[in-house]
Amino acid sequence: MPDSKYLIVGGGMAADAAIHGIREVDSKGSIALIGAESDPPYDRPPLSKGLWKGKPLDTIWRDTSKQAVELYLGREAKTLDPQNKRIVDEHGAVYTFEKLLLATGGTPRELPARAGRILYFRSLQDYRTLRAMAEQGRRFGVIGGGFIGSEIAAALTMNGKEAVMIFPGEGIGDRTFPRDLSKFLNGYYIQQGVQVLPGQSVVDVEAHGEQVVFKVRDEKTSKICDVTVDGVVAGIGIQPNIELAEIAGLETGNGIIVNEFLQTSHADIYAAGDVAAFHNPALSRYIRVEHEDNANTMGRVAGRAMAGKPEPYRHLPFFYSDLFDLGYEAVGELDPRLETVTDWQEPFRKGVIYYLQDARVRGVLLWNVWGQVDAARSLIAEPGPFKPADLKGRLPAKKA
Ligand SMILES: Cc1cc2nc3c(=O)[nH]c(=O)nc-3n(C[C@H](O)[C@H](O)[C@H](O)COP(=O)(O)OP(=O)(O)OC[C@H]3O[C@@H](n4cnc5c(N)ncnc54)[C@H](O)[C@@H]3O)c2cc1C
Repeated sequence: MPDSKYLIVGGGMAADAAIHGIREVDSKGSIALIGAESDPPYDRPPLSKGLWKGKPLDTIWRDTSKQAVELYLGREAKTLDPQNKRIVDEHGAVYTFEKLLLATGGTPRELPARAGRILYFRSLQDYRTLRAMAEQGRRFGVIGGGFIGSEIAAALTMNGKEAVMIFPGEGIGDRTFPRDLSKFLNGYYIQQGVQVLPGQSVVDVEAHGEQVVFKVRDEKTSKICDVTVDGVVAGIGIQPNIELAEIAGLETGNGIIVNEFLQTSHADIYAAGDVAAFHNPALSRYIRVEHEDNANTMGRVAGRAMAGKPEPYRHLPFFYSDLFDLGYEAVGELDPRLETVTDWQEPFRKGVIYYLQDARVRGVLLWNVWGQVDAARSLIAEPGPFKPADLKGRLPAKKA
């Protein structure tokens, strides 16, 4: 029975960051990690970006195993008994702990349509599968116009494949960007060779020999048409993996609820990364963030707290993405339903968009503008009130 001082459930980026955090404080305490994937922890963002642009596969590995840790890979934790501090995996193996971290991330949402032959893209194994599919096939359906869909469509196109993007909204990234930018992206993707089908929902998917035919319904006219492709990949969001926390009776909501020291409602059980919902002082509300900076920073803070050095987690994470040769960094709440103030240096190519609520800045999109993440964080922390004219020219911040 593996009996460790620190037990981590989940083999992703938050888990690896936590192990480094523990080792910064405690060089000797035993650490065990249970991870459902058979691969050890790796960086996920390159799966839809760098690896399709020639970045070697061996650059994605984290150096988890160098931190004196027992890795139990290809194992899924099934039950958690907080009183007796025990986890049981799907083979019935029992793991005990003094401090536990739940870093279980999220599982891709699936379509209600008969979904055989759809690859829901999340893991390194999914990347390997898509690479193998891309060796055989020429034309791919990409379902979803958010982060994963837009990156995968670009990745396939840059690798000489035809991509057909299908999503119910009006434009690419329309849950993040203002309407005009999102509409611009539709045109930009078309210019790059992507077939873009906005306002369409997938209602059924059928295998026809080696090919896949999916039926898409136009949201406005309800007209249904067939799209035939060699493979289908989908990125339509994730659901946080909160089952273990629920079984254990820990407080959950949109994620596992943690306090500022990243403890769940049980003082010896912590949560971090995509699965954890925490209070952010700058935004004055609970948030759950599905981005790399949060997984890395929060994981480390959780690890240090588990090892006896608690510090409040007040970080406002940033995120980023690449869309062909466009790229951006962003901080805070990017909700296009908020008031937006756009300050282009070059329309749709370079500039800053501010998202406001009640005359305070809630989010900042830095579109091909680099090195301004901290300045954007400071702006979000300012009480305001801001008028649109106050923000024009505010970023990039002038060097003092
Ligand atoms: C293709 C892709 C591209 C991305 N690109 C970007 C980007 O450009 N910028 C950005 O900021 N973010 C990006 N992200 C998001 C970022 O990768 C995530 O925020 C980050 O991986 C979250 O880390 P995590 O450790 O919390 O969860 P995960 O990375 O999801 O890891 C959780 C792990 O826990 C395992 N697990 C779950 N339940 C159990 C269980 N019961 N027992 C054992 N193991 C379990 C899972 O199998 C998984 O391995 C991207 C994500 C993907 C998928």
